[in-house]
Amino acid sequence: MAEERVALEILAIAAHPDDVEQTCGGTLIRMAGLGYRTGVLDLTAGEMGTRGDPAIRLREAAEAGRLLGLAWRGNLHLPDGRLENTFEVRLKVAAEIRRLRPRVVILPYWQARHPDHVRACEIGYEACFLAGLRKIETGDPPFRPRNVLYSSLYASVAPTFVVDISEQFDRRMEALLAYRSQYGRREEASELFPDPEEIRERLAGIARYYGNLIGVRYGEPFVTRETLRVDDIVALGSPSF
Ligand SMILES: [Zn+2]
Repeated sequence: MAEERVALEILAIAAHPDDVEQTCGGTLIRMAGLGYRTGVLDLTAGEMGTRGDPAIRLREAAEAGRLLGLAWRGNLHLPDGRLENTFEVRLKVAAEIRRLRPRVVILPYWQARHPDHVRACEIGYEACFLAGLRKIETGDPPFRPRNVLYSSLYASVAPTFVVDISEQFDRRMEALLAYRSQYGRREEASELFPDPEEIRERLAGIARYYGNLIGVRYGEPFVTRETLRVDDIVALGSPSF
Protein backbone atom coordinates (compact mmCIF):
# COMPACT_ATOMS: atom_id res chain seq x y z
CA MET A 1 0.00 0.00 0.00
CA ALA A 2 1.24 3.45 -0.85
CA GLU A 3 2.30 5.29 2.29
CA GLU A 4 2.33 8.84 0.99
CA ARG A 5 -0.35 11.16 2.34
CA VAL A 6 -3.12 11.47 -0.18
CA ALA A 7 -6.21 13.53 0.51
CA LEU A 8 -9.34 12.19 -1.16
CA GLU A 9 -12.82 13.59 -1.59
CA ILE A 10 -14.44 10.14 -1.82
CA LEU A 11 -13.41 6.81 -0.29
CA ALA A 12 -15.30 3.55 -0.86
CA ILE A 13 -14.64 0.83 1.72
CA ALA A 14 -15.42 -2.74 0.67
CA ALA A 15 -14.89 -6.30 1.88
CA HIS A 16 -13.45 -7.80 -1.30
CA PRO A 17 -11.65 -6.64 -4.43
CA ASP A 18 -14.37 -6.46 -7.14
CA ASP A 19 -17.16 -5.38 -4.73
CA VAL A 20 -17.05 -1.70 -5.66
CA GLU A 21 -16.86 -2.59 -9.36
CA GLN A 22 -20.28 -4.19 -8.96
CA THR A 23 -21.98 -1.72 -6.63
CA CYS A 24 -20.67 1.85 -6.92
CA GLY A 25 -17.95 1.80 -9.60
CA GLY A 26 -20.01 3.86 -12.05
CA THR A 27 -20.40 6.58 -9.44
CA LEU A 28 -16.66 6.54 -8.70
CA ILE A 29 -15.90 6.89 -12.42
CA ARG A 30 -18.37 9.74 -12.75
CA MET A 31 -17.04 11.57 -9.69
CA ALA A 32 -13.44 11.19 -10.92
CA GLY A 33 -14.66 12.75 -14.18
CA LEU A 34 -15.92 15.74 -12.16
CA GLY A 35 -12.39 16.18 -10.81
CA TYR A 36 -12.83 14.59 -7.38
CA ARG A 37 -10.04 12.41 -6.02
CA THR A 38 -11.54 8.99 -5.39
CA GLY A 39 -10.16 5.96 -3.60
CA VAL A 40 -11.03 2.41 -2.60
CA LEU A 41 -9.99 0.57 0.54
CA ASP A 42 -10.55 -3.18 0.16
CA LEU A 43 -10.48 -4.89 3.56
CA THR A 44 -9.47 -8.35 2.29
CA ALA A 45 -7.63 -9.70 -0.74
CA GLY A 46 -10.42 -12.18 -1.47
CA GLU A 47 -8.24 -15.20 -0.74
CA MET A 48 -11.27 -17.42 0.02
CA GLY A 49 -12.46 -17.15 -3.58
CA THR A 50 -12.51 -20.44 -5.49
CA ARG A 51 -10.40 -18.99 -8.26
CA GLY A 52 -7.22 -16.95 -8.31
CA ASP A 53 -5.00 -16.10 -5.35
CA PRO A 54 -4.34 -12.87 -3.42
CA ALA A 55 -1.39 -11.82 -5.62
CA ILE A 56 -3.45 -12.21 -8.79
CA ARG A 57 -6.49 -10.48 -7.32
CA LEU A 58 -4.40 -7.52 -6.11
CA ARG A 59 -2.94 -7.12 -9.60
CA GLU A 60 -6.41 -7.28 -11.07
CA ALA A 61 -7.66 -4.78 -8.47
CA ALA A 62 -4.94 -2.32 -9.49
CA GLU A 63 -5.92 -2.65 -13.15
CA ALA A 64 -9.63 -2.25 -12.29
CA GLY A 65 -8.74 0.79 -10.16
CA ARG A 66 -7.01 2.38 -13.15
CA LEU A 67 -10.17 1.86 -15.20
CA LEU A 68 -12.25 3.43 -12.42
CA GLY A 69 -9.96 6.47 -12.45
CA LEU A 70 -9.02 6.02 -8.77
CA ALA A 71 -6.39 8.30 -7.23
CA TRP A 72 -5.66 5.63 -4.60
CA ARG A 73 -6.43 1.99 -3.82
CA GLY A 74 -5.31 0.06 -0.76
CA ASN A 75 -5.86 -3.35 0.79
CA LEU A 76 -5.76 -4.11 4.52
CA HIS A 77 -5.27 -7.88 4.05
CA LEU A 78 -7.78 -8.77 6.75
CA PRO A 79 -8.99 -12.39 6.65
CA ASP A 80 -11.49 -13.04 3.85
CA GLY A 81 -14.61 -15.00 4.81
CA ARG A 82 -14.20 -14.20 8.50
CA LEU A 83 -14.00 -10.43 8.79
CA GLU A 84 -14.50 -9.43 12.39
CA ASN A 85 -15.42 -6.06 13.79
CA THR A 86 -12.79 -5.75 16.50
CA PHE A 87 -11.27 -2.60 17.99
CA GLU A 88 -7.95 -3.45 16.35
CA VAL A 89 -9.59 -3.67 12.91
CA ARG A 90 -11.58 -0.46 13.44
CA LEU A 91 -8.38 1.28 14.47
CA LYS A 92 -6.60 0.18 11.27
CA VAL A 93 -9.44 1.52 9.15
CA ALA A 94 -9.64 4.72 11.24
CA ALA A 95 -5.90 5.28 10.64
CA GLU A 96 -6.50 5.06 6.85
CA ILE A 97 -9.44 7.45 7.09
CA ARG A 98 -7.31 9.98 8.96
CA ARG A 99 -4.53 9.64 6.42
CA LEU A 100 -6.85 9.90 3.38
CA ARG A 101 -9.29 12.49 4.85
CA PRO A 102 -12.25 11.70 2.54
CA ARG A 103 -15.23 14.06 2.72
CA VAL A 104 -17.54 11.22 1.64
CA VAL A 105 -17.26 7.54 2.58
CA ILE A 106 -19.20 4.86 0.68
CA LEU A 107 -19.94 1.62 2.57
CA PRO A 108 -21.83 -1.54 1.66
CA TYR A 109 -25.47 -1.44 2.80
CA TRP A 110 -25.92 -2.80 6.34
CA GLN A 111 -28.00 -5.82 5.34
CA ALA A 112 -26.40 -8.33 2.97
CA ARG A 113 -26.21 -12.01 2.19
CA HIS A 114 -22.43 -12.19 2.63
CA PRO A 115 -21.45 -11.71 6.31
CA ASP A 116 -18.20 -9.96 5.24
CA HIS A 117 -20.29 -7.21 3.59
CA VAL A 118 -22.28 -6.68 6.80
CA ARG A 119 -19.03 -6.57 8.82
CA ALA A 120 -17.41 -4.16 6.32
CA CYS A 121 -20.37 -1.82 6.80
CA GLU A 122 -20.12 -1.91 10.61
CA ILE A 123 -16.35 -1.61 10.60
CA GLY A 124 -16.44 1.30 8.14
CA TYR A 125 -19.08 3.26 10.05
CA GLU A 126 -17.48 2.75 13.44
CA ALA A 127 -14.02 3.55 12.04
CA CYS A 128 -15.35 6.88 10.70
CA PHE A 129 -16.59 7.66 14.19
CA LEU A 130 -13.37 6.52 15.85
CA ALA A 131 -11.27 8.60 13.44
CA GLY A 132 -12.81 11.75 14.88
CA LEU A 133 -11.96 11.03 18.51
CA ARG A 134 -9.09 13.15 19.78
CA LYS A 135 -7.87 10.60 22.28
CA ILE A 136 -7.39 7.88 19.68
CA GLU A 137 -3.73 7.87 18.61
CA THR A 138 -2.87 6.90 15.02
CA GLY A 139 -0.08 9.33 14.09
CA ASP A 140 -2.42 11.60 12.09
CA PRO A 141 -4.74 14.33 13.38
CA PRO A 142 -8.39 13.46 14.16
CA PHE A 143 -10.71 13.58 11.16
CA ARG A 144 -14.27 12.52 10.49
CA PRO A 145 -15.86 12.28 7.02
CA ARG A 146 -18.83 14.58 6.48
CA ASN A 147 -21.11 11.98 4.88
CA VAL A 148 -21.45 8.21 4.88
CA LEU A 149 -23.38 6.71 1.96
CA TYR A 150 -24.49 3.10 1.78
CA SER A 151 -24.29 1.37 -1.57
CA SER A 152 -27.55 -0.61 -1.75
CA LEU A 153 -27.45 -2.22 -5.21
CA TYR A 154 -27.81 -5.77 -3.92
CA ALA A 155 -30.22 -4.91 -1.09
CA SER A 156 -34.01 -4.96 -1.37
CA VAL A 157 -34.46 -1.45 -0.08
CA ALA A 158 -35.73 1.79 -1.60
CA PRO A 159 -32.71 3.99 -2.38
CA THR A 160 -32.45 7.48 -0.93
CA PHE A 161 -31.02 8.57 -4.29
CA VAL A 162 -29.74 7.09 -7.53
CA VAL A 163 -26.71 8.29 -9.50
CA ASP A 164 -27.06 8.33 -13.28
CA ILE A 165 -24.26 6.09 -14.58
CA SER A 166 -25.55 5.69 -18.15
CA GLU A 167 -22.28 7.00 -19.57
CA GLN A 168 -20.12 5.11 -17.08
CA PHE A 169 -21.74 1.67 -17.28
CA ASP A 170 -19.49 0.25 -20.02
CA ARG A 171 -16.34 1.40 -18.26
CA ARG A 172 -17.58 -0.05 -14.98
CA MET A 173 -18.18 -3.37 -16.77
CA GLU A 174 -14.64 -3.21 -18.17
CA ALA A 175 -13.31 -2.63 -14.64
CA LEU A 176 -15.20 -5.66 -13.32
CA LEU A 177 -13.99 -7.88 -16.14
CA ALA A 178 -10.42 -6.83 -15.31
CA TYR A 179 -10.73 -9.49 -12.60
CA ARG A 180 -9.98 -12.12 -15.18
CA SER A 181 -9.39 -14.82 -12.57
CA GLN A 182 -12.99 -14.34 -11.39
CA TYR A 183 -14.88 -13.56 -14.56
CA GLY A 184 -12.81 -15.08 -17.33
CA ARG A 185 -14.41 -17.77 -19.39
CA ARG A 186 -13.58 -21.19 -17.93
CA GLU A 187 -15.02 -24.60 -18.44
CA GLU A 188 -14.81 -25.73 -14.82
CA ALA A 189 -17.25 -24.47 -12.19
CA SER A 190 -19.30 -22.85 -14.92
CA GLU A 191 -22.41 -22.73 -12.75
CA LEU A 192 -20.58 -20.72 -10.11
CA PHE A 193 -18.84 -18.51 -12.64
CA PRO A 194 -21.12 -17.45 -15.48
CA ASP A 195 -19.44 -16.09 -18.58
CA PRO A 196 -18.93 -12.36 -19.20
CA GLU A 197 -22.07 -12.00 -21.37
CA GLU A 198 -24.21 -13.47 -18.61
CA ILE A 199 -22.61 -11.17 -16.01
CA ARG A 200 -23.09 -8.18 -18.26
CA GLU A 201 -26.75 -8.98 -18.81
CA ARG A 202 -27.33 -9.47 -15.11
CA LEU A 203 -25.62 -6.21 -14.11
CA ALA A 204 -27.22 -4.29 -16.97
CA GLY A 205 -30.64 -5.51 -15.77
CA ILE A 206 -29.97 -4.26 -12.24
CA ALA A 207 -28.50 -0.94 -13.43
CA ARG A 208 -31.46 -0.51 -15.80
CA TYR A 209 -33.90 -1.04 -12.95
CA TYR A 210 -32.30 1.68 -10.83
CA GLY A 211 -31.86 3.96 -13.84
CA ASN A 212 -35.56 3.60 -14.56
CA LEU A 213 -36.36 4.96 -11.09
CA ILE A 214 -34.82 8.31 -12.07
CA GLY A 215 -35.73 8.29 -15.75
CA VAL A 216 -32.29 7.40 -17.16
CA ARG A 217 -30.79 4.29 -18.70
CA TYR A 218 -28.46 3.02 -15.96
CA GLY A 219 -28.22 3.97 -12.30
CA GLU A 220 -26.52 3.08 -9.02
CA PRO A 221 -28.56 3.31 -5.78
CA PHE A 222 -27.48 4.69 -2.43
CA VAL A 223 -29.07 4.94 1.00
CA THR A 224 -28.28 7.57 3.62
CA ARG A 225 -29.30 7.42 7.28
CA GLU A 226 -29.82 11.18 7.32
CA THR A 227 -32.53 13.05 5.42
CA LEU A 228 -31.05 14.92 2.47
CA ARG A 229 -31.46 18.68 2.58
CA VAL A 230 -32.89 20.49 -0.46
CA ASP A 231 -32.31 24.21 -1.00
CA ASP A 232 -34.02 24.65 -4.38
CA ILE A 233 -37.18 22.63 -5.10
CA VAL A 234 -37.22 23.87 -8.71
CA ALA A 235 -33.90 22.11 -9.40
CA LEU A 236 -34.83 18.58 -8.23
CA GLY A 237 -33.00 15.93 -10.22
CA SER A 238 -35.88 13.48 -10.76
CA PRO A 239 -38.99 14.23 -12.84
CA SER A 240 -42.44 13.18 -11.56
CA PHE A 241 -43.70 12.31 -15.05
ZN1 LIG B 1 -17.81 -9.13 -1.71
